[in-house]
Amino acid sequence: MLDVSSAIEELRNLNAKKVGLQLPDGLKRLTHEIVKKLEKNGFFVIVSGKPSYGSCDLDLNLLEEVDVLVHVAHPPVVDVDRVIYVDYRIDYSVSEVVKNVLDKIPDSVSLVSTSTYVHKLKDIAYELEKNGKDVYLRKGGRTGIEGLVLGCNFRAIDRKAEAVLFVGDGTFHPRGAAIYTDKEVYAISPLENRIRKFGYDDVNRFFKTRFSLIGKAMECENFCVVVSSKPGQKRLELARSIYNKLKSMYSTSLIYFDDVNPENFPCSCIVNTACPRIAYDDWKRFGIVLTPQEVEILLKQRKWEDYELDEIN
Ligand code: SF4
Repeated sequence: MLDVSSAIEELRNLNAKKVGLQLPDGLKRLTHEIVKKLEKNGFFVIVSGKPSYGSCDLDLNLLEEVDVLVHVAHPPVVDVDRVIYVDYRIDYSVSEVVKNVLDKIPDSVSLVSTSTYVHKLKDIAYELEKNGKDVYLRKGGRTGIEGLVLGCNFRAIDRKAEAVLFVGDGTFHPRGAAIYTDKEVYAISPLENRIRKFGYDDVNRFFKTRFSLIGKAMECENFCVVVSSKPGQKRLELARSIYNKLKSMYSTSLIYFDDVNPENFPCSCIVNTACPRIAYDDWKRFGIVLTPQEVEILLKQRKWEDYELDEIN
C-alpha cells in the first residue's frame, strides 16, 4: 500500500517543480506507477538509480539536482532538508495474527515490527491485552515510532518482558532481537501466518562467530577503520577514536567511503563504523570485520562479558 497523495500535497506546498524519487531495490518495480502519478500532477521526476538500504541512505547527489527528494519506504532517521518520506505499508489481519500467536507466546511480550507492518501494532497490543497478555510497546530509537526496530537499533524492545513478539518477514530482525535480549523471539509473518522461534541456538552461533573473529584479528598486521559518507551512518568521531586506539599498536588507516569495497584496500582486518549490519551480516565478503565494541575487547579495554551489539542512536 503506497499512497503518494500526501507527498504530492507537500510537494505543492514546497513549490517543488523538479522531484527526485528514491525507492529501495525491492520496490523499484513501482517506479513507473509513481512517476506517472507525479508527472500527472505537474512535476518533472528524476529517479535515483542507487540502491537504498534505509533512510540513512539518502541519494544526496540527486538531491543537489532537484528541488525535493521523495524517499520511499523508510522512516526518517536523519534530519536533511528538502526530503519527503512516503510510507510503504502492507495491510494485514490483526485478528489472524492474534489468533495464531495467542497460545504460543508467554504471558508478557515486547511487541516489535518493521516499518511495513508497524502501523497495526497498537491494535495487536490491544487484542492481546484483552486476552490476558502483558504487552510492552515502546518507542523505537532513531525514529520515535512505537515498536519499530531497525537493523541498527533495537531500543524498541523492552527487556522487562519475558519474550519478544516480532511481526514481520525475514530472519534479520528477529535474530537481532534474540541477540539483543538473550530471550526467545516469536516471529510471525502476517502474510504467511507462520510462526518461527529464535533463541538460544541463534545467540550461541552469533557469539561463537564473533569470538572467533576477535581471535583472528589478534593475528592481523594492519587495520582499516571505515567511515561511511551516508548521512545516517556517518560516525566520524567514533571512527577517529577507534583509529587512535589502534594506531599505537597496529598499522592503521581511516577510510572514508560511499559503498564499501575493501577489496581494493590492503586491510587484513576491517573495523566497521558504518551500518552495523556490515559487520554482522556481510563480514564473509570482506574477511575479518569487527565492530567498535569488539576492538575494545581486542585491546583489552572491555571484557568479553560486557559485549554489546553495535547500534546507532
Ligand atoms: S544504518 Fe543500516 S540498519 Fe540502520 S537504518 Fe541505515 S541501513 Fe538500516
